Amino acid sequence: MIHRDLLLKMIEEITMVIGANKQYLTDLDQTIGDGDHGINMDRGFRAIKDKVEAVKDKDCGTILKTVAMGLISTVGGASGPLYGTAFMKAGQVVANKMEITAEDAVKILDEAIQGIIARGKAAQGDKTMLDALIPAYDALKAAVEEGEPLTNAMGKAVEAAEGGVAYTKTIAAKKGRANYLGDRSIGHQDPGATSSYLMLKAIYDVLTR
Ligand code: ADP
Ligand code: MG
Ligand code: MG
Repeated sequence: MIHRDLLLKMIEEITMVIGANKQYLTDLDQTIGDGDHGINMDRGFRAIKDKVEAVKDKDCGTILKTVAMGLISTVGGASGPLYGTAFMKAGQVVANKMEITAEDAVKILDEAIQGIIARGKAAQGDKTMLDALIPAYDALKAAVEEGEPLTNAMGKAVEAAEGGVAYTKTIAAKKGRANYLGDRSIGHQDPGATSSYLMLKAIYDVLTR
C-alpha cells in the first residue's frame, strides 16, 4: 500500500534522480537524438515541485494529475506529452483515493502505457520508453497476481525495465528522432527507456526505505 505521503516522496525521489542523471540522459540523446532528453526531463520535474507542494494535502489522483499537467506544459519534446499522458492516466486510476494498492499500481502502469501508445503510436520493439515500461508492467502484474508484496513485485518490475533498456541497444529505432538514423541507431541505448527505468527504480528505492 502506498499512502499519499509516500507518493509525494516518490515524486521527490524521481525529481532528484532525474536531476542527478540529467547529463547522462542528455548524452544518450546526443548519440541518437537531439541531445536534450535530460534537459527536458530535469526542467519538467523541477517545474512541478511548487505545483505539487500546493496540492500535497489532496488525494493521489489530484497529485498525479498535477504532475501530468506540469510535465505537459514544461518538458517539451516528444517525451513531455507522452510522460504527461502517462501521469494523467495514472491519476485517473486513483482519483479521490488517499492510497494506492498493489492492484492499483498494476492498473496505473497499464493505463500509463496505454496512454503512451494512444498518443505516440509506438509498439514494443520500436526502441522507445515502452521497451522499459511494458516488460516492467508484465513483471509487476505477474508478481502481484502471485500475491507477492508490492515492494518485491516492484523490484521485479525494475529488473525487467533494466533488461528492456539493455534490449534497446540491440534494435533499430522506429519512432522518435532516432528513427531518422535507421539501423545506425543499433548499438545505442534509448534515452526515454532509460528515464523510464530510472523513474521505476526511484519508486522502488522509496518502497525499500
Ligand atoms: P525529442 O526527441 O522530441 O527531443 P526527448 O529527447 O525528450 O524528445 O525524448 C526522446 C525519447 O522519447 C526517446 O528516447 C523515446 O524513448 C521517446 N519517444 C519518442 N517518440 C516516441 C513515441 N512515439 N512513443 C513512445 N516514446 C517515444
Ligand atoms: Mg531529444
Ligand atoms: Mg528535442
